[in-house]
Amino acid sequence: MLYDNLGINEKGHLTIGGMDTVDIASEFGTALYVMDEDKLRSNVRTYTDAMKLYLAPGSMPLLASKALCFKSIYPVIDSEGMGADLVSPGEIYTACAAGFPPEKMYFHGNNKTDEDIRFALERKVGWFIIDNYNELEALDRIAGEMGVTQNALLRITPGINPHTFEAVNTGKIDCQFGVPIETGQAAEFVGAALKKEHICVHGFHSHIGSEIFEPDPFCDAVDILMSFAVEMRERYGFTADVLNLGGGFAVRYVESDPQVDIAANIKALSEHLNAKCKEVGYPVPAILLEPGRSSVATAGLTLYTAGGIKTIEGYRSYVTVDGGMPDNPRYALYKARYTVVMANRMNDPCDFKCSVCGRCCESGDLIQENIMLPEAKRGDIIAVLGTGAYNFSMASNYNRLLRPGIVFIKDGKARMAVRRQTYEDLIDCDL
Ligand SMILES: *Cc1c(COP(=O)(O)O)cnc(C)c1O
Repeated sequence: MLYDNLGINEKGHLTIGGMDTVDIASEFGTALYVMDEDKLRSNVRTYTDAMKLYLAPGSMPLLASKALCFKSIYPVIDSEGMGADLVSPGEIYTACAAGFPPEKMYFHGNNKTDEDIRFALERKVGWFIIDNYNELEALDRIAGEMGVTQNALLRITPGINPHTFEAVNTGKIDCQFGVPIETGQAAEFVGAALKKEHICVHGFHSHIGSEIFEPDPFCDAVDILMSFAVEMRERYGFTADVLNLGGGFAVRYVESDPQVDIAANIKALSEHLNAKCKEVGYPVPAILLEPGRSSVATAGLTLYTAGGIKTIEGYRSYVTVDGGMPDNPRYALYKARYTVVMANRMNDPCDFKCSVCGRCCESGDLIQENIMLPEAKRGDIIAVLGTGAYNFSMASNYNRLLRPGIVFIKDGKARMAVRRQTYEDLIDCDL
């Protein structure tokens, strides 16, 4: 199977973490997100183990919460030694409600309002990743009012296009996150930050992109950031002890995708970093990484029940499921690929070419097009694999469809971690 936690049992049903997905669907109803806690833990452990082995003390992965944020995930990642990257007060609120240690929280985002800043400082969020000059001014002012000094990293744009596998000083400089090195603005930004009385700068952050299969773009980022760090040391006498390289490792969504060896990538990254630090005579900084997709995607799947099935003579066949773009907008947004299977008939021949669509009144509401399944019947259970990232977290109530719940499975037991919305939830804010 696509992932090592999936299987097929004697009934010909898809299993996840050893549990029958058809049984899960009948117990909890569909549409439904299922998360395998052990798979999540093993994904996280790949990072924590490799980072302990190859990187300086203090190095740690942070869960990019935007990929998946709900209360029950935080005790799990905390117990695995992971921190949390949080991009909004809502994500901070969720992590706090779960009792996540604030010193391991890293507050991101390119428009933290004064209210957001106060919100985070009141909750003693350990780290700010300061995106821009305005935020720097606001944070220093508010921290001063509250009589605290805030630890921070500065978000720098190294100017890397990860899909060319080389540093290109165009393109990615032009984005709404961080301050670019090339224009000289990053150096000014660092100078200003170091003068702030209520901010303690420890280092730099960069996030170069997503769905990256190779270590090369990260090595390019290390080169650029370390050269920048050396320049900042010469200019201001400041030595960075933390470098946060962001997220971005890809996962395998379909059989034809390569398998990303995260541990090997981290090893390559560390060798590159160590060599670079030696070359320029710089103490090796602790490294933070912010895996979102590669922490959670492969631990999750979505279960649907097939309903309307139609073949348009001379065109194509559609299999309609009881969900769609409100619970998985990624195909509609960017034609994201997923592996779709018929969970209740895994051993039947896949000889039916079809497009799986959602139930919204929108022709773009597609889950996947032109795939092969067994000939679908009303009531079949359709599973979309690898939906742990950017599905629940991007879910909407478009067409006033209820957002599915999340079932967490562990040791042969399934428990509801997020309940399915009710109709009352839908009108809860309507006055
Ligand atoms: C999106 C994002 C991540 C996570 O990216 P993945 O591709 O899901 O690993 C991490 N850090 C920042 C700043 C991001 O914007």
